[in-house]
Amino acid sequence: MERVYNFSAGPSALPVEVLKKAADEMLNMGGTGMSVMEMSHRSKDYQAIIDRAEELFRELMEIPDDYAVLFLQGGASSQFAMIPLNLMNNSGKGDYVITGQWAKKAYQEGAHYGDAYQVASSADKTFSYIPKLDKSMFRPDADFVHITLNNTIYGTKFNELPDVGDVPLIADISSCILSEKLDVSKFGMLYAGAQKNIGPAGLTVVIIRKDLIGNARDITPIMFNYQTHLDSGSMYNTPPTYGIYICKLVLEWLKDLGGVEKIQELNYKKAKILYDYLDSSEFFTGTVVKEDRSIMNVPFLSPSDELNKKFIQEAKEAGLVNLAGHRSVGGMRASIYNAMPVEGVQALVDFMKKFEAENK
Ligand SMILES: *Cc1c(COP(=O)(O)O)cnc(C)c1O
Repeated sequence: MERVYNFSAGPSALPVEVLKKAADEMLNMGGTGMSVMEMSHRSKDYQAIIDRAEELFRELMEIPDDYAVLFLQGGASSQFAMIPLNLMNNSGKGDYVITGQWAKKAYQEGAHYGDAYQVASSADKTFSYIPKLDKSMFRPDADFVHITLNNTIYGTKFNELPDVGDVPLIADISSCILSEKLDVSKFGMLYAGAQKNIGPAGLTVVIIRKDLIGNARDITPIMFNYQTHLDSGSMYNTPPTYGIYICKLVLEWLKDLGGVEKIQELNYKKAKILYDYLDSSEFFTGTVVKEDRSIMNVPFLSPSDELNKKFIQEAKEAGLVNLAGHRSVGGMRASIYNAMPVEGVQALVDFMKKFEAENK
């Protein structure tokens, strides 16, 4: 069977080169006579894999030395709890900007453990925009400010970082990690579930300024303490070994391609092809305020629910799959992460033009 263009929001498409390499190495990884899945995480062979993954993160994202890179489990959703447990530890205050369901879930966990405060929300317009923020809206004594940099479900992103003064800024970058340039030094912490842009589900990457670690609450489970994972090189227990290996292959693929600069160029190109068409179409409409558009997740609508259904079905038959919007919002959503080639987006737009002509 031929491969489809997979527009899934997550888990999502991986580069074919990565899947082929993994297949090649499935039975015998680098002369070890075994699969990575069968290796001890304490072996020298495996240590080389996780070390290389960290090195590639540091190189591709230009991560300063005073930041730790941790390989964890439990999804981005576990970070919603780990953040307040580890970091809501001076004033006990955490400020949250609510730009979608993931941001709200992060806030809800914050409220379990301390004084979580909603600085602003775009819930009034179904999260179709990023609220305007200025420094006076944040509490200067908060332990952190939390934002969701790219909102996977609604298709918005922060194109400008809020000015939060000296308060550490924490961003959920699950659906935009390594999609474009990001100045890590502007953040206290970044985190991402791997299954959108950098690998399979089961791996969560945390990039955190080391001075923020070491002051967790007493009630923090050992497995939920960043210190535990920093001290043990992400090997307090068995890490998600295969996920880290695939992530390493994705990072190697990205480096070979030309790194973040190159993928940014390709991602801007893909997003432009799709948004230019949406802006010119009299049939399809984008659902997001223009200046806050995501380059990773692009939600759109046709004139009716019936036509949305018909579109999703016919697109699937044409090899363009997983275009249904999130179950909470309906309509369509094309997730065009790093692994989606320009040709995939062009094929989608060609199909949309044809559908428009046939159904308007
Ligand atoms: C997918 C997603 C999550 C949830 O990730 P899990 O790994 O399933 O917990 C959180 N935040 C954002 C922005 C996401 O896109």
